[in-house]
Amino acid sequence: MFEKIKAENGVVYLRSTLLPCPHGFSTRQGGVSTLEHTSSLNLAFRRGDDEETVLKNLALFSTAVGIDDKKVVSLHQVHSARVREVTNADAGLGYFRPTDESSDGYITTESGLPVGVKNADCTPVLFAWVRDGETKAVAAVHAGWRGTLSEISLEAVGKLIEKGAQKSEIFAAIGPSISSCCYEVERDFYDEFEKKYGEEFCRRFISESAQKDGKYFADVAKMNHWQLERAGIPEKNIDLCPFCTSCEEEMFYSHRKSRGLRGTMLSVICL
Ligand SMILES: [Zn+2]
Repeated sequence: MFEKIKAENGVVYLRSTLLPCPHGFSTRQGGVSTLEHTSSLNLAFRRGDDEETVLKNLALFSTAVGIDDKKVVSLHQVHSARVREVTNADAGLGYFRPTDESSDGYITTESGLPVGVKNADCTPVLFAWVRDGETKAVAAVHAGWRGTLSEISLEAVGKLIEKGAQKSEIFAAIGPSISSCCYEVERDFYDEFEKKYGEEFCRRFISESAQKDGKYFADVAKMNHWQLERAGIPEKNIDLCPFCTSCEEEMFYSHRKSRGLRGTMLSVICL
Protein backbone atom coordinates (compact mmCIF):
# COMPACT_ATOMS: atom_id res chain seq x y z
CA MET A 1 0.00 0.00 0.00
CA PHE A 2 1.16 3.51 -0.76
CA GLU A 3 1.32 6.01 2.08
CA LYS A 4 1.57 9.77 1.85
CA ILE A 5 4.07 11.09 4.38
CA LYS A 6 4.56 14.65 5.50
CA ALA A 7 8.04 14.85 7.01
CA GLU A 8 8.97 17.17 9.87
CA ASN A 9 10.79 19.45 7.41
CA GLY A 10 7.61 19.87 5.35
CA VAL A 11 8.52 17.56 2.46
CA VAL A 12 5.61 15.47 1.24
CA TYR A 13 6.44 12.13 -0.35
CA LEU A 14 5.00 8.70 -0.99
CA ARG A 15 6.30 5.38 0.21
CA SER A 16 5.25 1.78 -0.19
CA THR A 17 4.59 -0.43 2.83
CA LEU A 18 6.08 -3.33 0.82
CA LEU A 19 9.62 -1.91 0.74
CA PRO A 20 11.44 -2.25 4.09
CA CYS A 21 14.42 0.00 3.29
CA PRO A 22 14.65 3.82 3.05
CA HIS A 23 12.88 5.00 -0.10
CA GLY A 24 10.49 7.64 -1.37
CA PHE A 25 8.65 8.97 -4.38
CA SER A 26 8.85 12.74 -4.16
CA THR A 27 5.91 15.05 -4.82
CA ARG A 28 6.16 18.74 -5.69
CA GLN A 29 5.46 19.79 -2.10
CA GLY A 30 7.84 20.96 0.58
CA GLY A 31 10.78 22.41 -1.37
CA VAL A 32 12.29 25.84 -1.89
CA SER A 33 11.76 26.42 -5.65
CA THR A 34 9.81 29.63 -6.14
CA LEU A 35 9.18 29.66 -9.91
CA GLU A 36 5.55 28.95 -10.70
CA HIS A 37 6.28 25.85 -12.77
CA THR A 38 8.96 24.37 -10.47
CA SER A 39 7.32 25.25 -7.17
CA SER A 40 8.40 23.84 -4.96
CA LEU A 41 10.33 20.56 -4.79
CA ASN A 42 11.99 20.43 -8.20
CA LEU A 43 14.73 17.80 -8.19
CA ALA A 44 16.32 18.24 -11.62
CA PHE A 45 18.78 20.67 -13.11
CA ARG A 46 17.92 22.59 -16.29
CA ARG A 47 14.24 23.08 -15.47
CA GLY A 48 14.65 26.76 -14.58
CA ASP A 49 15.91 26.63 -11.00
CA ASP A 50 19.54 27.41 -10.21
CA GLU A 51 21.70 24.48 -9.09
CA GLU A 52 21.77 25.64 -5.50
CA THR A 53 17.98 25.48 -5.28
CA VAL A 54 17.89 21.96 -6.74
CA LEU A 55 20.56 20.75 -4.32
CA LYS A 56 18.71 22.35 -1.40
CA ASN A 57 15.60 20.46 -2.48
CA LEU A 58 17.61 17.26 -2.74
CA ALA A 59 18.89 17.80 0.80
CA LEU A 60 15.34 18.36 2.09
CA PHE A 61 13.94 15.31 0.31
CA SER A 62 16.89 13.15 1.41
CA THR A 63 16.47 14.20 5.04
CA ALA A 64 12.77 13.34 4.85
CA VAL A 65 13.48 9.89 3.40
CA GLY A 66 16.53 9.20 5.59
CA ILE A 67 19.30 8.98 2.98
CA ASP A 68 22.56 10.84 2.31
CA ASP A 69 21.90 13.48 -0.36
CA LYS A 70 25.60 13.74 -1.23
CA LYS A 71 25.63 10.11 -2.40
CA VAL A 72 22.44 9.99 -4.53
CA VAL A 73 23.14 8.55 -7.99
CA SER A 74 20.79 9.72 -10.76
CA LEU A 75 21.96 10.29 -14.32
CA HIS A 76 20.48 11.77 -17.46
CA GLN A 77 17.66 9.53 -18.77
CA VAL A 78 17.27 8.46 -22.39
CA HIS A 79 14.37 5.93 -22.39
CA SER A 80 16.73 2.98 -22.70
CA ALA A 81 16.30 -0.46 -21.14
CA ARG A 82 19.76 -0.56 -19.62
CA VAL A 83 20.08 -1.10 -15.87
CA ARG A 84 23.48 -0.10 -14.55
CA GLU A 85 25.09 -1.62 -11.48
CA VAL A 86 26.47 1.11 -9.23
CA THR A 87 28.94 1.00 -6.37
CA ASN A 88 30.27 3.49 -3.84
CA ALA A 89 32.70 4.68 -6.51
CA ASP A 90 29.63 6.20 -8.25
CA ALA A 91 28.31 8.02 -5.16
CA GLY A 92 26.97 11.47 -6.00
CA LEU A 93 27.03 10.91 -9.75
CA GLY A 94 24.54 13.18 -11.50
CA TYR A 95 23.93 15.70 -8.71
CA PHE A 96 27.21 16.43 -6.92
CA ARG A 97 29.45 15.04 -9.64
CA PRO A 98 28.32 16.29 -13.05
CA THR A 99 28.57 13.78 -15.89
CA ASP A 100 27.36 13.28 -19.46
CA GLU A 101 26.65 9.63 -18.81
CA SER A 102 23.08 8.40 -18.98
CA SER A 103 21.08 5.57 -17.44
CA ASP A 104 17.43 4.69 -16.96
CA GLY A 105 17.97 2.09 -14.28
CA TYR A 106 20.21 1.13 -11.39
CA ILE A 107 20.94 -1.79 -9.15
CA THR A 108 23.22 -1.83 -6.14
CA THR A 109 24.18 -4.21 -3.37
CA GLU A 110 26.03 -1.55 -1.43
CA SER A 111 24.42 -0.13 1.67
CA GLY A 112 24.06 3.61 2.10
CA LEU A 113 24.15 4.29 -1.64
CA PRO A 114 20.82 5.79 -2.82
CA VAL A 115 19.82 5.30 -6.47
CA GLY A 116 17.12 7.39 -8.06
CA VAL A 117 15.15 7.99 -11.24
CA LYS A 118 13.56 11.28 -12.26
CA ASN A 119 10.00 11.47 -13.45
CA ALA A 120 7.09 13.76 -14.31
CA ASP A 121 4.49 11.35 -15.85
CA CYS A 122 6.75 8.39 -16.74
CA THR A 123 6.51 5.42 -14.40
CA PRO A 124 9.16 5.00 -11.69
CA VAL A 125 9.59 1.51 -10.27
CA LEU A 126 11.59 0.78 -7.11
CA PHE A 127 12.72 -2.74 -6.20
CA ALA A 128 14.05 -4.45 -3.09
CA TRP A 129 15.39 -7.97 -2.74
CA VAL A 130 14.47 -9.05 0.77
CA ARG A 131 15.65 -12.34 2.33
CA ASP A 132 14.76 -13.26 5.92
CA GLY A 133 13.85 -9.68 6.71
CA GLU A 134 17.12 -8.33 5.38
CA THR A 135 17.38 -6.21 2.23
CA LYS A 136 20.17 -7.60 0.03
CA ALA A 137 19.93 -5.34 -3.02
CA VAL A 138 17.83 -2.49 -4.39
CA ALA A 139 17.02 -1.23 -7.87
CA ALA A 140 15.24 1.69 -9.51
CA VAL A 141 14.03 2.12 -13.08
CA HIS A 142 12.50 4.86 -15.20
CA ALA A 143 9.80 3.14 -17.26
CA GLY A 144 8.36 5.47 -19.82
CA TRP A 145 6.46 3.83 -22.65
CA ARG A 146 9.61 3.08 -24.60
CA GLY A 147 11.36 1.68 -21.53
CA THR A 148 8.25 -0.38 -20.81
CA LEU A 149 8.12 -1.68 -24.37
CA SER A 150 11.74 -2.80 -24.00
CA GLU A 151 10.95 -4.23 -20.53
CA ILE A 152 13.29 -2.24 -18.31
CA SER A 153 11.48 -3.51 -15.18
CA LEU A 154 12.32 -7.05 -16.19
CA GLU A 155 15.90 -6.02 -16.82
CA ALA A 156 16.06 -4.97 -13.15
CA VAL A 157 14.45 -8.24 -12.06
CA GLY A 158 17.00 -10.15 -14.14
CA LYS A 159 19.88 -8.32 -12.47
CA LEU A 160 18.47 -9.05 -9.00
CA ILE A 161 18.18 -12.74 -9.91
CA GLU A 162 21.79 -12.69 -11.17
CA LYS A 163 22.74 -11.48 -7.69
CA GLY A 164 20.99 -14.48 -6.17
CA ALA A 165 17.43 -13.32 -5.55
CA GLN A 166 14.50 -15.70 -5.76
CA LYS A 167 11.45 -14.25 -7.51
CA SER A 168 9.45 -14.62 -4.29
CA GLU A 169 12.00 -12.37 -2.53
CA ILE A 170 11.67 -9.48 -4.97
CA PHE A 171 9.35 -6.61 -4.02
CA ALA A 172 8.38 -3.83 -6.41
CA ALA A 173 6.62 -0.50 -5.92
CA ILE A 174 5.27 1.14 -9.06
CA GLY A 175 5.15 4.87 -8.36
CA PRO A 176 2.98 7.79 -9.45
CA SER A 177 2.65 8.29 -13.20
CA ILE A 178 0.13 9.51 -15.74
CA SER A 179 -2.82 7.10 -15.86
CA SER A 180 -5.22 6.07 -18.57
CA CYS A 181 -7.59 8.91 -17.60
CA CYS A 182 -5.07 11.40 -19.06
CA TYR A 183 -2.42 9.62 -21.10
CA GLU A 184 -3.54 10.03 -24.70
CA VAL A 185 -1.44 8.18 -27.26
CA GLU A 186 -1.38 7.64 -31.01
CA ARG A 187 -2.06 4.58 -33.12
CA ASP A 188 1.68 3.85 -33.48
CA PHE A 189 1.89 3.37 -29.72
CA TYR A 190 -0.92 0.80 -29.95
CA ASP A 191 0.77 -0.93 -32.90
CA GLU A 192 4.12 -1.24 -31.13
CA PHE A 193 2.56 -2.94 -28.12
CA GLU A 194 0.30 -5.10 -30.26
CA LYS A 195 3.33 -6.33 -32.18
CA LYS A 196 5.02 -7.27 -28.94
CA TYR A 197 2.22 -8.59 -26.73
CA GLY A 198 -0.82 -9.09 -28.96
CA GLU A 199 -4.34 -7.81 -29.11
CA GLU A 200 -5.60 -8.98 -25.75
CA PHE A 201 -2.85 -7.05 -23.97
CA CYS A 202 -3.79 -3.92 -25.91
CA ARG A 203 -7.49 -4.31 -25.14
CA ARG A 204 -6.57 -4.50 -21.48
CA PHE A 205 -4.20 -1.55 -21.19
CA ILE A 206 -4.91 0.73 -24.17
CA SER A 207 -8.46 1.94 -24.74
CA GLU A 208 -9.77 3.71 -27.78
CA SER A 209 -10.77 7.32 -27.29
CA ALA A 210 -14.53 7.81 -27.36
CA GLN A 211 -14.09 11.37 -28.60
CA LYS A 212 -11.26 11.30 -31.12
CA ASP A 213 -10.62 8.96 -34.02
CA GLY A 214 -7.24 7.25 -33.95
CA LYS A 215 -6.50 8.31 -30.38
CA TYR A 216 -6.05 5.98 -27.46
CA PHE A 217 -5.55 6.12 -23.69
CA ALA A 218 -2.88 3.95 -22.10
CA ASP A 219 -1.87 2.82 -18.63
CA VAL A 220 1.88 2.22 -18.57
CA ALA A 221 2.05 1.63 -14.79
CA LYS A 222 -0.39 -1.28 -15.10
CA MET A 223 1.64 -2.63 -18.03
CA ASN A 224 4.67 -2.80 -15.74
CA HIS A 225 2.56 -4.57 -13.12
CA TRP A 226 1.51 -7.10 -15.75
CA GLN A 227 5.10 -7.63 -16.91
CA LEU A 228 6.29 -8.28 -13.36
CA GLU A 229 3.51 -10.75 -12.60
CA ARG A 230 4.06 -12.52 -15.89
CA ALA A 231 7.76 -12.82 -15.03
CA GLY A 232 6.87 -14.66 -11.84
CA ILE A 233 6.93 -11.93 -9.19
CA PRO A 234 4.06 -12.77 -6.79
CA GLU A 235 1.16 -10.33 -6.99
CA LYS A 236 1.36 -9.71 -3.24
CA ASN A 237 4.92 -8.41 -3.76
CA ILE A 238 3.85 -5.68 -6.18
CA ASP A 239 2.49 -2.31 -5.09
CA LEU A 240 0.78 0.03 -7.54
CA CYS A 241 0.40 3.72 -6.78
CA PRO A 242 -3.21 4.87 -7.17
CA PHE A 243 -2.44 8.48 -8.17
CA CYS A 244 -2.36 10.04 -11.64
CA THR A 245 0.31 12.74 -11.99
CA SER A 246 -1.80 14.70 -14.45
CA CYS A 247 -5.02 14.64 -12.38
CA GLU A 248 -3.31 15.56 -9.11
CA GLU A 249 -1.65 18.79 -10.17
CA GLU A 250 -1.32 20.13 -6.63
CA MET A 251 0.70 17.09 -5.66
CA PHE A 252 2.79 16.22 -8.74
CA TYR A 253 4.58 17.67 -11.74
CA SER A 254 3.09 16.46 -15.01
CA HIS A 255 4.88 16.84 -18.33
CA ARG A 256 1.64 16.43 -20.28
CA LYS A 257 -0.51 18.66 -18.16
CA SER A 258 2.07 21.47 -18.14
CA ARG A 259 3.01 21.01 -21.81
CA GLY A 260 6.60 20.50 -20.75
CA LEU A 261 7.00 23.54 -18.50
CA ARG A 262 7.45 21.78 -15.19
CA GLY A 263 9.74 20.64 -12.41
CA THR A 264 10.86 17.06 -11.93
CA MET A 265 10.32 14.49 -9.18
CA LEU A 266 12.76 11.88 -7.92
CA SER A 267 12.05 8.32 -6.85
CA VAL A 268 14.83 7.01 -4.73
CA ILE A 269 15.75 3.86 -2.82
CA CYS A 270 18.68 2.93 -0.61
CA LEU A 271 19.92 -0.33 0.85
ZN1 LIG B 1 -5.44 11.42 -14.85
